[in-house]
Amino acid sequence: MKLHFQDVPIRVLDVIRTLQEHKHQAYLVGGCVRDMLMSVTPKDWDVCTDALPKRVMKYFLRTIPTGIDHGTITVNSGGEMVEVTTFRSESGFTDGRRPDEVEYEIDINADLLRRDFTMNAIAWDPIFNVLADPFDGQGDIERRVIRAVGDVNKRFKEDGLRCIRAIRFQTRMGFEIEPETHAAIGANLETFAKVSIERRQDEFFKILVMPNAQEGLIELCETGLLDHIHPMLSQNGCYTCLNNVKPTVEMRLAALFCSYANSYISDEDLLTPLKLPAKMEAFILTAREQKCVPGRLGPVADRDIRIWIRACGDIDANELLDMYAALTGESPNNFFRVRGLITQQPRKLALDGHEIKEELGLAKPGPLIGKATKMLWSLVLGDPNMNTPEMLRAALREYHE
Ligand code: ATP
Ligand code: MG
Repeated sequence: MKLHFQDVPIRVLDVIRTLQEHKHQAYLVGGCVRDMLMSVTPKDWDVCTDALPKRVMKYFLRTIPTGIDHGTITVNSGGEMVEVTTFRSESGFTDGRRPDEVEYEIDINADLLRRDFTMNAIAWDPIFNVLADPFDGQGDIERRVIRAVGDVNKRFKEDGLRCIRAIRFQTRMGFEIEPETHAAIGANLETFAKVSIERRQDEFFKILVMPNAQEGLIELCETGLLDHIHPMLSQNGCYTCLNNVKPTVEMRLAALFCSYANSYISDEDLLTPLKLPAKMEAFILTAREQKCVPGRLGPVADRDIRIWIRACGDIDANELLDMYAALTGESPNNFFRVRGLITQQPRKLALDGHEIKEELGLAKPGPLIGKATKMLWSLVLGDPNMNTPEMLRAALREYHE
């Protein structure tokens, strides 16, 4: 288990070097050090320093004051975005979510003390090759153990989000959660419930899109956390459908919720515990409503499939098919005909509302237009070749008589 200078991108080293040239301490810290120790390529680079945020902004040409109030500046180092955070300690936490007070520190160990797990509380200065690992995070990584820094019950009471973070890291890395830390999850569910929906679901969604999301959900269910994210999901207990569908939040939620499609549970019951973008809600609701893909039910007329596609509205019917194919374990080839019909689907009528009104000889819009439009759609979905202005006009004349 070794940290290698050459594994750190040059642009990141530049940031550390610049801070050190100004007589400051600078370390890589948190997830990136943990990942490197596990021979995983870090996805982002966090630097911590004793330089105050305002100083950091002076030292670099391109900076963004991302979280200047709690000490974080994003430095754009030749295109590489590096988060630089001033050493800090936190205290208070009367609300179980965030510190009442943040204080800047000059000692790296004071900063590591506020971090959640020992494996995340390691700092490494790659220029002078200095390692700060006051809680034996390296030992825990070697033993594949997730352990809270300090008194776990105190730490989980400070910030309830740490409970679910433990499960997220366990699911991702397959580590064991040390028994006391594990027990503290169940003992601090109330604090977890106080954390904002956004922060809770952010961690939940990260688990939901993991390759082994199923295991993650079982763990969330058994610890009681899922009850405070989505009570309905914690009662279901069957998450095998997750393995089959693509790893996006929208597909995975839709897959989970489709298993309730024929039950008494309302759309609202499924959606209200979460805060989802409108587009994602629409996809999930359509997936539930349109669960019976006609192509799968044996010989169904093209017309019925076209009606199904139209009922999907703005939702990408191909995405829905992918999901159903995955859920049913059927080869997507079985949906070949449906896919063909999706590509050829008429998206609008060859006559617009104005033209329909004219053809009907109406002076102003009225309910007749709606009825006529419905009739035209019915024709066109039966035979898309009908969708020309001439044929639709002819149909309207006949309808009028
Ligand atoms: P990932 O690879 O998933 O980003 P990470 O360890 O980098 O994992 P982040 O959420 O990006 O996780 O947080 C960066 C670091 O900040 C963590 O490694 C940890 O040291 C610290 N940290 C983050 N959230 C908390 C928290 N709720 N309580 C204490 N420390 C935290
Ligand atoms: Mg990170």
